[in-house]
Amino acid sequence: MKVLVLNCGSSSIKYQLHDAATHAAPARGLVSRIGEDGAQIDAQTGDLKQSLQTAIPTHGRGLELILESLLDPQTGVVKDVSEVAAVGHRVVHGGSFFSAPALLTAEVIAKIEECAPLAPLHNPPILVGIREAIRILPDTPQVAVFDTAFHATIPARAHVYALPYGYYRDHGVRRYGFHGISFQSVSQRTNVLLGGRLSELKVVIAHLGNGASITAVDRGKSVDTSMGLTPLEGLVMGTRGGDLDPGVLLFMMRELGLSAGDVDRILNKESGVLGVSGVSNDMRDVLANAVTGDARCQLALDLYSYRVKKYVGAFAAAMGGLDALVFTAGVGENSPEIRAAACAGLSFLGIELDAESNARVRGMEGGINAKGSRVRVLVVPTDEERLIADETVSVVA
Ligand code: ADP
Repeated sequence: MKVLVLNCGSSSIKYQLHDAATHAAPARGLVSRIGEDGAQIDAQTGDLKQSLQTAIPTHGRGLELILESLLDPQTGVVKDVSEVAAVGHRVVHGGSFFSAPALLTAEVIAKIEECAPLAPLHNPPILVGIREAIRILPDTPQVAVFDTAFHATIPARAHVYALPYGYYRDHGVRRYGFHGISFQSVSQRTNVLLGGRLSELKVVIAHLGNGASITAVDRGKSVDTSMGLTPLEGLVMGTRGGDLDPGVLLFMMRELGLSAGDVDRILNKESGVLGVSGVSNDMRDVLANAVTGDARCQLALDLYSYRVKKYVGAFAAAMGGLDALVFTAGVGENSPEIRAAACAGLSFLGIELDAESNARVRGMEGGINAKGSRVRVLVVPTDEERLIADETVSVVA
C-alpha cells in the first residue's frame, strides 16, 4: 500500500511516497517558494534527483507537479494515480479535539480550522494543502496526523497555565505541545531498542532540530513537554529563545514601544541561537565559530545545552526517576558537543556518557552511555514520514 505523505508550509510542500509494507520511500521531494519568484520542485525517485524551476503560484499547482513527477512515464514510480492508496497530511495543531489521527471529513476540516488561531502560521497553509489535495485526488482517502496528538495524555497539572481559569476553560489557553509525530516515532524505535519495555520505563526524549522541544515519556505516554500553547516555550532553538519571563514582553512593549507584531517577529525569528550568537541559527556555524574563540557563539551553546540539562532534571523529578535519555533531530542526532554539554554533571541522576561512542554516533542510531551508566543514553533518528504513513494506514485500512 502506497501512502503519499504531505507536509505543507506557507510556501512549501515536503512530500514522500511511502510504501507501507516495506517502509521504503520510492519518491520524495520538496516544492519550494510557492507564490514567489524562483519557485521549484526538487524530486527524487530512487537515486535520480531532478529539479525544475517553473511558476508555482499556488499549493494546488505544487501538488499537481508532485503527481506529474510521481506519474512520469520515464522516471515516475506509479503508473496510475489509483496506486496511491491514501494521503497522510501532517497537521501541526489539533487543539483539544484530536488525540489520534483522523479521516479528513468536512467535520474534521472544520475542527482543524477552529484550531487555526492557535497556530496562525502553520494550520492555514496546511488547510490549503488539504483542500487542494482533496480537489486533485477526490477518490483517495485523506488522513490528518497531528503533532499535538501524542501529548493528549499530559495531565492537567502539567498542561494548565496558572492564569485566571477562564482563559483555559473558555479560550483553550493551555499547554498543547508539538513535535508529537517525532516523539511518537522515536518512542516506538526506543521501545525496540529497550527490549520492548517502554511501557515500564521513564524516558526523556530531546528533539533538537531547528525547532526544539523535550518530552517526558512515562511508561509510553507523554506526561509533560516543553512547548506550550505555541512552539515558543521551552528550549533554546535556532531562532526562538524558549522560556522567558513574561515581564520581558511587557518591558519590550511598554518601555521600548514595540508592537505585538514586532514582539512576535523578535520571539519567533530573531532570538534563540541566532539572537545570542549574532551569527547564525544553524548549530554547525555556531559550533565552528565557538571553536575559534567567538564568545557570543560559546554563550549561545552554553544557554542551549544548559536549558536541555535543566529540563532533563525537571522531567526526571516529574516522573520520579529516569531510565533512558534519547536524543533526536538535526542537532540531537549529529552533535556530540551539545549532547556532552547537556549531559555534563548529571552523573548524580545516573547519566554517564561514553566519550568515544558519543563522538562516533552521528546521523545514525546508537547507544552513547558509558558501561555502568544507570540511565541508557541513546541517539535515535526520527522518521516522521514513516510515522505519518503508518498512522494513515491505521485509519484507512
Ligand atoms: P527542522 O526542525 O528544520 O526539521 P532538523 O531536525 O533538520 O530541523 O535540524 C536542523 C538543524 O540541525 C540545523 O539547523 C543544524 O543546526 C543542525 N545540524 C545538522 N547537522 C548538524 C551537525 N553535523 N552538527 C551540528 N548540528 C547539526
